[in-house]
Amino acid sequence: MNPDSTVCPVCHSTSIELFLQRDSVPVHQNLLMRGAEEAGRIGRGRLAMHVCLHCGFVFNAAFDDRLMSYNQDYENTQVHSPAFNAYVDQLVTMTLQNSGIQGATIVEVGCGKGDFIKRLLASDPQARGYGFDPSYLGAEVICDGRLKFEKRFYDASCASLKADIVVCRHVIEHITQPGLLVEAVRSAVTPASHVFFETPCVDWILENKVIWDFFYEHCSLFTSASLTTLFERSGFAVQSVEHVFGGQYLWLHARPRETSAETIFNPGATPENAQRFHVVEAQCKQVWTEFISEQSSQGPLVLWGAGAKAVTFANLVDPERKWIRAIVDVNPSKQEKFLPGSGHPIIAPESLPAIKPTTVLVLNPNYNQEIAARLAAVQIEAKIINMMDEHRFTTTPISS
Ligand SMILES: [Zn+2]
Repeated sequence: MNPDSTVCPVCHSTSIELFLQRDSVPVHQNLLMRGAEEAGRIGRGRLAMHVCLHCGFVFNAAFDDRLMSYNQDYENTQVHSPAFNAYVDQLVTMTLQNSGIQGATIVEVGCGKGDFIKRLLASDPQARGYGFDPSYLGAEVICDGRLKFEKRFYDASCASLKADIVVCRHVIEHITQPGLLVEAVRSAVTPASHVFFETPCVDWILENKVIWDFFYEHCSLFTSASLTTLFERSGFAVQSVEHVFGGQYLWLHARPRETSAETIFNPGATPENAQRFHVVEAQCKQVWTEFISEQSSQGPLVLWGAGAKAVTFANLVDPERKWIRAIVDVNPSKQEKFLPGSGHPIIAPESLPAIKPTTVLVLNPNYNQEIAARLAAVQIEAKIINMMDEHRFTTTPISS
């Protein structure tokens, strides 16, 4: 086992503080598991979440890269959700409008299956695109030659592409040394480039006491200030950092800077919020365990969405599958599979009438309306519990 790291990966300060520990958590949240037993055998790792008192960065000091394997069974596509699609459409518009360039050369770093860069090119028929991802699967040239994919990392060797826009979504939180990624991007872009990064906002997680948003894959979590610090240290001038997706994500716009400037370190209220989280975690776990055990005694209880949030929640409060009957997901490749770790079955909304749930738990408030509509479509009249609403009161018992 690696010794825990003792310095902040962003500002290199040794003033770091442990605020959350969990032993033996599933290392992957989005791997497809074909049986409950296989799900139980998933690799396990340790969370030792630290906050940097100097810059506000949050990281898992016990993270071990060697446990990770983002292979073809890694499935985190969210394109089956209309609410998520509407959000991504907004991001496409913001990317093209913020840069103000038509017919741009666009690079996506860590493009996954290429969904986002395809949408960017669909919105600007003059644009050309390059998607970089070592795990990309599919045709290497599409859109009549306008879009090319390369199965490798984007770095200084890609400088000849002269990218006008570089986009990187939900990659940086998976990397233990995020500075190396930002420096690699800096070495490849031109002075005229616009760079956009999207990543979760750890202040939103801490302030809203979202215990299911700390999990192994996300070893590096940013505040608006610590993300700015990292980019400034890596040779960028930060234009803006916006809170998007109901405040859950940060959207950074930066430009390369030719001259050096003084970096600002601003931990804000993040260290205090993190220290409080230590108590919150134990309290929330107890309250939610009591809540779901009681709800399930009244009738079948299901949880909506088999993403990272549900995997974390189910493993925290129902690791032995006593109370949650099933996890519902609209993504066909997740249906008939099993949740990593706990092994809860994942089903389609159309399978709900066979279960007749009386309670549906919803972890992400951004999908409330969509879920209500899907339940109505299959004629399920269950009690919908929006957990973020209930969660605000977790310092006192949740009433049923
Ligand atoms: Zn720091």
